[in-house]
Amino acid sequence: MKLYEHESKRVFEQGGIPIPKQYGVVHSVDEVDDLNLEFPVMAKAAVLTGGRGKAGGVKKLTSLEEAKEFTAKLLKLRIKEHPVEMVFFEEAVEEKGACYIGVTTDPKSFNIVLIASASGGVDIEEIARTQPDAIIKREIPNNALILQYTIKEEVMSELSLQLQLSPKQNEELSLIVDKIYRIFQNTDAKLCEINPVIITQDSVVAADAKIVLDDNGLYRQSKLLEDLGITSRRHDIAEPTINEKKAYKLKFPYIDLLDPNLDKENEFLYVGLVPGGAGYGIFSIDEVVKIGKEFFNNKVVPINFMDSGGGPSQNRVADMFHLLMDYPITDVIITSRFGGISSCDVFIRGLIQALRDRYRNKQRIIPIYGRMVGTDLPSARNFLEKAKIETPKALKMMEIVVGNEKIMADIIKEGIKKGFDFKREVFS
Ligand code: GDP
Ligand code: MN
Repeated sequence: MKLYEHESKRVFEQGGIPIPKQYGVVHSVDEVDDLNLEFPVMAKAAVLTGGRGKAGGVKKLTSLEEAKEFTAKLLKLRIKEHPVEMVFFEEAVEEKGACYIGVTTDPKSFNIVLIASASGGVDIEEIARTQPDAIIKREIPNNALILQYTIKEEVMSELSLQLQLSPKQNEELSLIVDKIYRIFQNTDAKLCEINPVIITQDSVVAADAKIVLDDNGLYRQSKLLEDLGITSRRHDIAEPTINEKKAYKLKFPYIDLLDPNLDKENEFLYVGLVPGGAGYGIFSIDEVVKIGKEFFNNKVVPINFMDSGGGPSQNRVADMFHLLMDYPITDVIITSRFGGISSCDVFIRGLIQALRDRYRNKQRIIPIYGRMVGTDLPSARNFLEKAKIETPKALKMMEIVVGNEKIMADIIKEGIKKGFDFKREVFS
């Protein structure tokens, strides 16, 4: 769950990090009068997204008139699809230099990382792409509760040199690093970030603040939420993609593993997965990657996680396949039904229903390869055999192995091969 900048700053302040004087937030122009602003001030759009500066959502103001004018303008603005409903005011501090400090979890190692850069106030992801050397990054061994002195000193000595800090500024920035790390730990955060820390004439101050709490830790953070006056959980959890929204409506769990706007690369195979159960879903993702590495030159990409929920209806099964076939990135679907609670019969009827509908409506059909075993297998087999005779054209691209003579790893490998074969056919 993301916190607003003014909320994050309150958490930082309580944790001992210096912040500019806070005047408060307003929801309307009239409320600006009540803030008793002492100019110059910074006015900022209070939205749960970054890059406000670039989008015209941040401005230094020198008079009450200007403050009201800018507030009116901001309240009509949208920043990356977020309508601005609040404007936040704080003291404008004079900048001599700036840097970046952040603590987060590395998505690959699951270790906490301390990230710093002497380039502050700019898009850190952009810096990471274009000038990776400008980023100082240290993994924290064992995710220790207290930041190790040696790590902090290493980071600080690099920063201090690049920023030419005075001993006092160095000391203060060093404290900020300790404290942001402690706040990250104490709040069960996924991200704590200051971009920029502004270096003033003789001091340092957190000019921006961002905290993203881990939703799984929220149950331990009732005190913090209460202090901030947050009474209901915000639904901002990594804005859902179009597919995720669709699946949410259709009531099955679904996660996109790729940015749906990515440009497909022709030599890669993008594999959609309709697994039987969440555990199978996770296994399939790993297995697709592993087989891709071993046999296909690492050119195979799993694109989604999904779960049908125990005992899905025929329509839900159809919806799951429709979703992936409607999604232009998917090259091939690998599916598995391990019928325990759920029935193979319902599964195969759902899949065939989806294919027949798509054939009739001239919608995109891609290769589907998979296996089914377990509950209701005999009737499922009968239905499948009859269906193939009745509507061979609609089911041409589908191949479902019945029974468990073949292990899933082999099924996945064959499915990937079929996917590549089909892709080659299409492109040649
Ligand atoms: P973001 O663009 O959403 O990250 O919003 P920020 O709060 O970081 O503001 C954008 C930029 O405005 C910062 O990168 C700074 O360059 C500048 N800025 C913000 N607060 C202050 C301040 O108090 N004084 C000065 N001089 N600049 C500020
Ligand atoms: Mn910022």
